[in-house]
Amino acid sequence: MDLLKQELPVEQETLLISDDVKTGLVLVDIVNGFCTVGAGNLAPTAPDKQISGMVDESVRLAKMFCEKKWPIYALLDSHHPDIPEHPYPPHCIAGTDESKLVPELQWLENEPNVTLRCKDCIDGFLGSIEKDGSNVFVDWVKTNQIKVILVVGICTDVCVLDFVCSALSARNRRILTPLEDVVVYSPACATFDFPLHVAQNIKGALAHPQELMHHIGLYMAKGRGAKVVSEVLLHLPVEI
Ligand SMILES: [Zn+2]
Repeated sequence: MDLLKQELPVEQETLLISDDVKTGLVLVDIVNGFCTVGAGNLAPTAPDKQISGMVDESVRLAKMFCEKKWPIYALLDSHHPDIPEHPYPPHCIAGTDESKLVPELQWLENEPNVTLRCKDCIDGFLGSIEKDGSNVFVDWVKTNQIKVILVVGICTDVCVLDFVCSALSARNRRILTPLEDVVVYSPACATFDFPLHVAQNIKGALAHPQELMHHIGLYMAKGRGAKVVSEVLLHLPVEI
């Protein structure tokens, strides 16, 4: 890990958020099926520090955004039982607890500043496209005149990364005006753990060591043009 971090360093900044720059929070797949121990085929099988830390930090941010009445966009992985998502086993079937927000975030369902979006694919940008071709995420950015999106959730190197890459491409194509910055907050991101010694014993399985893949996810996001931050602080105006 040390060698990797040395060869592929990811410098992380601090993000100051304030009323001056309209910021939206994007929660990627913080659902039971990926975060709650024993909840399904892709849920952790034992308590997982990286995942529980991600949930705690996401809750902290969600509370901050709700107090300020700032916009939140929550993506929920949600699949039709007859349409599998290769290469993953069945997970987050629509209507089950697996595709619901984790208990710590379920209160968001009743908050007026929160837009919930079920998606049946990895990339939440594509998953936000409606049958008529409109895009719920694009509309959310435009309606709220968002300049910065703060992206958190799971998995750093899968759904978070794909969403970030698509958002950056869409921004560069001027589809997301007035969006300027896509920011990934690393302590509020996590990925799953499938270590090499386990994968080796399963034919065709791809190893996915957690800490390494989390780092790679951040590295790739930064390489595509996202900002990666290790700290998010609320910047309060100084009263004179
Ligand atoms: Zn899925």
